[in-house]
Amino acid sequence: MALSVVDLYRTVLPKTNCKDCGFPTCLSFASMVVSEQHPLKNCPHIDPELLAKSELELAEQYAEGKWLKRDLAGEALKWAQNRAASMAVEDLPDRIGGELVDCDGKTGLKLPYLNGSLLIIGTDITDESDNKLTRYEQVFVLNHLAQGGRALPTGKWKGLVEFPNTVSKMVSMKSQVEEPLIKHFSGKGKELQARALALGATPLQGQQNDADVALVFQIFPRVPVSLMFWDVKDDEDFEAEAKLMFDETVVEHLDIESIIFMSERLRQLLCQ
Ligand code: SF4
Repeated sequence: MALSVVDLYRTVLPKTNCKDCGFPTCLSFASMVVSEQHPLKNCPHIDPELLAKSELELAEQYAEGKWLKRDLAGEALKWAQNRAASMAVEDLPDRIGGELVDCDGKTGLKLPYLNGSLLIIGTDITDESDNKLTRYEQVFVLNHLAQGGRALPTGKWKGLVEFPNTVSKMVSMKSQVEEPLIKHFSGKGKELQARALALGATPLQGQQNDADVALVFQIFPRVPVSLMFWDVKDDEDFEAEAKLMFDETVVEHLDIESIIFMSERLRQLLCQ
């Protein structure tokens, strides 16, 4: 019999809310056990026989994926790894830039990334300090490897909404990227500028605008992203505004989901 959160709470846990498991209540512990495979034995007050029986039941429902919280980052990463698995590393410099390097007998790609570079061997990606990237960061890098075309940036900028099939993604762009930037840097445009320059951003050229900050990040050799930021003014009733723009060729290099992940990562790096 499968154990739901309520079953676990009612028939297995002692319901004393003693907090010995590290959770404030038995119910919150039950929720973590059922949806995130938190070990049931972390509650030290369950009769050993009941514990063994319950662990068996939980193992069966975990195997079926029943009531498990979806690991969206893990699923996206698996998909991107499969997508990139068949790429020929020798083709990559011509397609997306970077250079081939020898790594203990294996051929890897050194790919410029913001103000540094990535080392990519197969689907394994590390930065210059030998750190693994976050899972969402790996997703957009791998999708770029799999999809990146030869198109060079044209210098014609577009907002995300101007690309096909992006209407449903605008909520993520607003809530995960633009609004956090506004919240973090409102009244601190100079701080944003300094942070961006430290990430290798350069002034946005040839674009008529009245933004207080107008910069271009070279995320990958063929994927520039521009950021415009209008700061609050002391004498005006005006709220700060932030907008990311993409070269019109970006969809040749990344799928829309990856453009969102990349934008979120840029926001994280700026707000760190
Ligand atoms: S240790 Fe067990 S009894 Fe105590 S709060 Fe956690 S689940 Fe409840």
